[in-house]
Amino acid sequence: MEVRHNWTVAEVQQLMEKPFMDLLFEAQCVHRQYQQSNYVQVSTLLSIKTGACPEDCKYCPQSARYTTDVEKERLMEVDRVLDAAQKAKNAGSTRFCMGAAWKNPKARDMPHLTEMIKGVKGMGLETCMTLGMLTPDQADELAGAGLDYYNHNLDTSPEFYGNIITTRTYQDRLDTLSHVRDAGMKICSGGIIGMGESASDRAGLFVELANLPTHPESVPVNMLVKVKGTPLEAVDDVDPFDFIRLIAIARIMMPLSAVRLSAGREDMNEQMQTLCFMAGANSVFYGCKLLTTPNPSEDKDMQLFDKLGINSQQVSQRPDEIEENDLLDRVVERVAARPSQDDLFYEASV
Ligand code: SF4
Repeated sequence: MEVRHNWTVAEVQQLMEKPFMDLLFEAQCVHRQYQQSNYVQVSTLLSIKTGACPEDCKYCPQSARYTTDVEKERLMEVDRVLDAAQKAKNAGSTRFCMGAAWKNPKARDMPHLTEMIKGVKGMGLETCMTLGMLTPDQADELAGAGLDYYNHNLDTSPEFYGNIITTRTYQDRLDTLSHVRDAGMKICSGGIIGMGESASDRAGLFVELANLPTHPESVPVNMLVKVKGTPLEAVDDVDPFDFIRLIAIARIMMPLSAVRLSAGREDMNEQMQTLCFMAGANSVFYGCKLLTTPNPSEDKDMQLFDKLGINSQQVSQRPDEIEENDLLDRVVERVAARPSQDDLFYEASV
């Protein structure tokens, strides 16, 4: 199977209509071909600057436009961030993600941010930041400090986007992703399911992600956490099977990406999370809080991983580090190592 960048909404809708078991089987086959089975990467996410964001994302309790229980906090001191990173490492995380509720970082923030990146990297953790929109120079500066990943979600389809955010355009988001890529960093980009979008909008989101020139190395698929005070507080729930299908579709469309179960995991029981792992999710956020909303505790996650025989420790080459250009080599090796039809017949008959 080739890694494609020319998906259409109609094709994705066809995948959505497949019988559930067939879709999961296909996704699991892709997963086992391109990813390490029984491995889930864990990241910790820390809010380094909370609330008072000027943007109007209708799902977000950190927007200054909505009245929620989120207490605003200024940018954290570097020492506090490094302390949290050390705790995350001790708890088993391999990547430390730092999120700031900004439209974009200001020049005065950059020295603090680069110090955080260097400190966290110095602990042997991978680094990720989400800080809003970036200019090309800011992307270069963060990359120069050693930032591995930059998170910037597309959120939804281009068609539905205007219903959710009016203070930045879809193109602004694509531009930031392109600056991040040009600076040599890896991209973490996904979206949110359950904001009142249609099935075709869900397909449109995945088409946008999968048709980027290079797939995001990490694709967070969030299930909306409805927060009181936000305009989406009373939107309809997502059908769990629809959500699991979307995980499978993300796996099939972006076989080399880490597909991350992100926000909303607190509302998923163990069985639903297991089906998501079966469908190809292989990354989670770890820790009892996701920015400002609840998340399962590390203990609960470890208990589930134990029950499922899932490994969350670093491996020599994580799947999301495999470059698309490595694929051909892997396919050639597999074909060379594959037994002939005669061998298969022999094995089956003894
Ligand atoms: S999602 Fe980010 S940009 Fe949008 S309001 Fe929340 S913190 Fe601001």
